[in-house]
Amino acid sequence: MIAAFVFVFGLVLGSFLNVCIRRLPRHESIVRPGSRCPNCATPIRPRDNIPLLSYLLLRGRCRSCRAPISPEYPLVEFCAGALALGCYGQFGLTLFAAKWLLFSAMMLVLIFTDWHERLLPNRVNYFGLAAGLALAAPTPPGDGLARWLLNDWLALHASPWLIRVSDAALGAILAGGLLWLFAEGYFRLRGREGMGLGDVKMMAMAGAFLGARQAILMLLLGSILGSVAGAIAVWGLGKGRDYELPFGSFLGIAGIALIFVGGPLLHWYLAAAGFHR
Ligand SMILES: [Zn+2]
Repeated sequence: MIAAFVFVFGLVLGSFLNVCIRRLPRHESIVRPGSRCPNCATPIRPRDNIPLLSYLLLRGRCRSCRAPISPEYPLVEFCAGALALGCYGQFGLTLFAAKWLLFSAMMLVLIFTDWHERLLPNRVNYFGLAAGLALAAPTPPGDGLARWLLNDWLALHASPWLIRVSDAALGAILAGGLLWLFAEGYFRLRGREGMGLGDVKMMAMAGAFLGARQAILMLLLGSILGSVAGAIAVWGLGKGRDYELPFGSFLGIAGIALIFVGGPLLHWYLAAAGFHR
């Protein structure tokens, strides 16, 4: 019963995320006006705006002009519903579940805006960075780096509250800073931009949620996914070497995966790298 409610909540959230994906890159309001058909601009009636169901009942076509509706709309809705269920399954009805659902919702928006427009809207990145830092106090990343740095290394006897927020801040600075260094290095080496500042801001935002170690794991995982996709694009699909890969989309997929496998993966990675305690 609760699971069904959580899934429906996720579907409705997904419906809102669709609006964000279409409008944020164009700097439009995500509140007004209501949804319209992209083809004939007819306002969509509430009963035709039910997540998933309306798409199925209308067989993927606009009621007034019969133009096909992109299957991406129900896909995003379904993904949000599944992620809501996943967060509930992993964390129960807790603030942690809400935090990770917010994180995955923002990742979902960034995956699609980067895919369509090679854009990672500042509004998502800045809001996410602020939310990640604010949520660190009640729902800490639990990275351990801040405790080591503040208490063991600097012997500051920092309060638990300060350690929690510092973990988020360190995650943001290290993950964003590391990617900025890569971008800068690539620019110096190749003489052209390999990625935009949007990717750097996205990593800073993700670092505030994940903490430093998991954020660096996200960077690693996103880079592996991006490299594989890049190789497929160039050699498999015949794209030119100057084809711009939606790197943010792969970072987003990596970020969502880490919510569910981050703990075990980090454990395995540290053990494989010889850092096991
Ligand atoms: Zn229409």
